[in-house]
Amino acid sequence: VFAHLVQAPEDPILGVTVAYNKDPSPVKLNLGVGAYRTEEGKPLVLNVVRKAEQQLINDRTRIKEYLPIVGLVEFNKLSAKLILGADSPAIRENRITTVECLSGTGSLRVGGEFLAKHYHQKTIYITQPTWGNHPKIFTLAGLTVKTYRYYDPATRGLNFQGLLEDLGTAPAGSIVLLHACAHNPTGVDPTIQQWEQIRQLMRSKGLMPFFDSAYQGFASGSLDTDAKPIRMFVADGGECLVAQSYAKNMGLYGERVGALSIVCKSADVAGRVESQLKLVIRPMYSSPPIHGASIVAVILRDKNLFNEWTLELKAMADRIISMRKQLFEALRTRGTPGDWSHIIKQIGMFTFTGLNPAQVSFMTKEYHIYMTSDGRISMAGLSSKTVPHLADAIHAVVTK
Ligand code: PMP
Repeated sequence: VFAHLVQAPEDPILGVTVAYNKDPSPVKLNLGVGAYRTEEGKPLVLNVVRKAEQQLINDRTRIKEYLPIVGLVEFNKLSAKLILGADSPAIRENRITTVECLSGTGSLRVGGEFLAKHYHQKTIYITQPTWGNHPKIFTLAGLTVKTYRYYDPATRGLNFQGLLEDLGTAPAGSIVLLHACAHNPTGVDPTIQQWEQIRQLMRSKGLMPFFDSAYQGFASGSLDTDAKPIRMFVADGGECLVAQSYAKNMGLYGERVGALSIVCKSADVAGRVESQLKLVIRPMYSSPPIHGASIVAVILRDKNLFNEWTLELKAMADRIISMRKQLFEALRTRGTPGDWSHIIKQIGMFTFTGLNPAQVSFMTKEYHIYMTSDGRISMAGLSSKTVPHLADAIHAVVTK
């Protein structure tokens, strides 16, 4: 009965790794996937995560019963505090609901489906370009996806005028997806002043902010700095949604641990919102997994472990920033034509190199360097040892 099916294409991002794995070359380099690697090119389990897991194993009172539909309640409270700040008015006034979801993707999906069911506007505006999964997540959640201008290829920076124009002409009440920090794939973020202008415009038009926070702490190295745009929107007393992921900042990729928060106008409304979120989650996966959320809760509740985490997080962020500097310098010493300053200006895990699909394909074929066809490279996949190889490839392709 399935014989008529055609072979589906590989996921454009995950497919890069599939191709990489098939390449026998000893110099091959995978810059496709957004996962942190050490200087030695190895995946990293944070020390603090190992400690938390040990604590969990040693605790013989721990059981494996189902979590409630909303997940681990302590994890939810700590996650809200982490993203909004301990002194957040929304937390103080108890007008926020937080539910544990399956990492960032699951949080976006649950939030999208809740909005499709209960919010009066069904259109969500996403940045052009954006993470490839966004349009699919929100379309399947039942929303209509439109884009707003964000990136200017000429400056390899923000098209702020275009952004303001597009949000300014969006129908009142539309949902707007905002990357809280470290925009994927461009690495281009608004300044705090620009965020303030975006906030004023959105509030004046009643646009609903939906923040995607997949990189808190990973962009600047500071959890508070990276959460600032969200906190500005919460401080004005208005509503918003926030999807959090612990994949990158705690290295818990495969544990699938994240949270969806909805900031409401009153505690009463927040309670009813939560009751409806449960109706979205129950038929989707009943309740979320227990292990990852328990690790996060152990770390966030303990002052010492929390401090240790911030140091390890900062070290990851700093290594990425250092890779930016090294790649920029390597291109400069080679005299590679073009302005490459965007490599050091862009923020977070990715650099949007400006290389086109033909150039990407040349670099894969001739240099065994793998990346998405839009020219996005994961800086976290680079090391001091591999920077020269990448710089050689970029130099070759732009002087070809
Ligand atoms: N949003 C953005 C912008 C991302 O880059 C990612 C991870 N690539 C996610 C959400 C979600 O990732 P996860 O589901 O692994 O938390």
